[in-house]
Amino acid sequence: MPPTPPPYDRVVFDCDSTLSTIEGIEELAAGRPELRDEIAALTDQAMSGAIPLEQVYARRLELLAPRRVEVAQVGRLYMETALPHAREVVSVLHALDKEVRVVSGGLMLAVQPFAAWLGVRAERVHAVPIRFDANEHYLAVDETCPLARAGGKRELVESWPGARTVLVGDGMTDAEVAPAVAAFVCFAGVVERPAVVELAHAVVRRPDLAALLPALLSQDELERLQRDPRHRPLLAHA
Ligand SMILES: [Mg+2]
Repeated sequence: MPPTPPPYDRVVFDCDSTLSTIEGIEELAAGRPELRDEIAALTDQAMSGAIPLEQVYARRLELLAPRRVEVAQVGRLYMETALPHAREVVSVLHALDKEVRVVSGGLMLAVQPFAAWLGVRAERVHAVPIRFDANEHYLAVDETCPLARAGGKRELVESWPGARTVLVGDGMTDAEVAPAVAAFVCFAGVVERPAVVELAHAVVRRPDLAALLPALLSQDELERLQRDPRHRPLLAHA
């Protein structure tokens, strides 16, 4: 049982390997086979907590030096690889008056269009801005963005006033937020990381975001959805 049971007012989703099956940074590396293993190893070490995020963040982007068009392409890949029922779950949460946010260590230029496609309001999307040079090649990461460093998600989540927050994610940067929220749900439907599972108040392993609903909603909210013919079909997947 989470420290604070539902209902929650705010639902915060991680992006990579949570709303979508991909890791955006690895997709940027896909066309660069000579770098792919190095990038994947850095990502995995950061996500499992072996090395702090800020040590790998700028390093990965410097190695890849993506062009603007490549980052935008990752946004389209996020949509193509969205978890089943991602849009429906966002829609149901909005119908129940939840504040839905996306908090990602991914690149804003890719995460923003994906979040918009899911129905999340622009001002509720948080990711890392990067700058490009005059030729639209990668120049630098915005080092002032807390999401590019360890503990940054927690810093951001704690900056929001009062609502009862539940956070859903698969990585160590998500698990770090657990003590600061009403509940942390580990979504292990894409990747299961034992160190993250250990810190979670609940774990969902089925690769379908509808499977999160029993952890995100109270019995009363689930019953309200059950009575609504527009939402009932989604609950069959919960
Ligand atoms: Mg993730």
